[in-house]
Amino acid sequence: MTASPPDNARPAASAQARSAHTSAAEGVVAAMRDLLALGLSQGTSGNVSVRHGDGFLVTPSGIPAEALTADSIVPMSFSGTWDHALAPSSEWRFHRDILQQRPEIGAVVHAHPTYCTAFALCGRTIPAVHYMIAAVGGPTIRCAPYAPYGTDELSRLALIALEGRGGCLLANHGMIATGPDLPRALWLAVEMETLCRQYAVALQVGAPVILPDDEIARTVERFKSYGLQAQADGPAPR
Ligand SMILES: [Zn+2]
Repeated sequence: MTASPPDNARPAASAQARSAHTSAAEGVVAAMRDLLALGLSQGTSGNVSVRHGDGFLVTPSGIPAEALTADSIVPMSFSGTWDHALAPSSEWRFHRDILQQRPEIGAVVHAHPTYCTAFALCGRTIPAVHYMIAAVGGPTIRCAPYAPYGTDELSRLALIALEGRGGCLLANHGMIATGPDLPRALWLAVEMETLCRQYAVALQVGAPVILPDDEIARTVERFKSYGLQAQADGPAPR
């Protein structure tokens, strides 16, 4: 038989839950500011979510990163409901669906950075022109076909493009990067934008050489062990 906690334990437990909530929400705010500082987002574009409790936290709709506080971050349930003064990002559906269907993912970053988006505007899948593509977990960064923003269809197509991958492009729109936590999702967003920038320049120089799939598969495995050793140093390849 399990005894109920004494009454005086409850306020402490709820204070603890509140502080865990606040620090998770502060992490979301910091990630949004980082996206802006890194030049990966502008204005009110870009949104971030993180798994928390029985649901997730997501950035609100239409608030610029500079004006966000932990209180502006919207807690949502996996059934798609919220009880908050601000509405969640219009892209909450793919944040919800990715976190719900990919249990290994703890955080999702979405933005419209210039080089990723330039390839997305052309509907291009990024091939293995650099071994760092292994950071997304496979030999390509797929581009999901176009669907209007905020729709279930966009979410469905993004999940297909993300199969076996941590990131993808969204045609005529932008990109998604994910990770076990926010720092690693943000790290992947930076790596994806860097790779797309290098690929864009390489296409002007000549014909980029594509690495074979088995070489990328070996690199994915090497990144997994590197990630374990480098945990103490912050974001590392998975
Ligand atoms: Zn977008």
